[in-house]
Amino acid sequence: MPMPDEIVGLLRSKITLKWADGHETAYRARDLRLACRCAACIEETSGRPLLDPATISENVRAKKIELCGQYAIAIEWTDGHTTGIFNFRDLRGNCPCDLCIAERAAGRAPRSP
Ligand SMILES: [Zn+2]
Ligand SMILES: [Zn+2]
Repeated sequence: MPMPDEIVGLLRSKITLKWADGHETAYRARDLRLACRCAACIEETSGRPLLDPATISENVRAKKIELCGQYAIAIEWTDGHTTGIFNFRDLRGNCPCDLCIAERAAGRAPRSP
């Protein structure tokens, strides 16, 4: 399980995770908000998205970031959404940097569903 040494992103346009192995993953705050997989954003039984991206402001920010056990972070957003949990495996597995995109394309890194 990848573990971040540092997470920087409170009220910033980007949320950056610095991993123990030195890699850095930066998400746009809004992209991460839109990637929320909680029951309020994704219908549990069908996997149908319930969240309309048009309702999420460009300026949405993380108001609070809390460690959730050893495997995830819980983010409280400025739009009032508080139920999102983001696990480190997916955060690292979906890393949008050029290097990780190239590695995923080459099939070297585990792909997230
Ligand atoms: Zn959600
Ligand atoms: Zn990366």
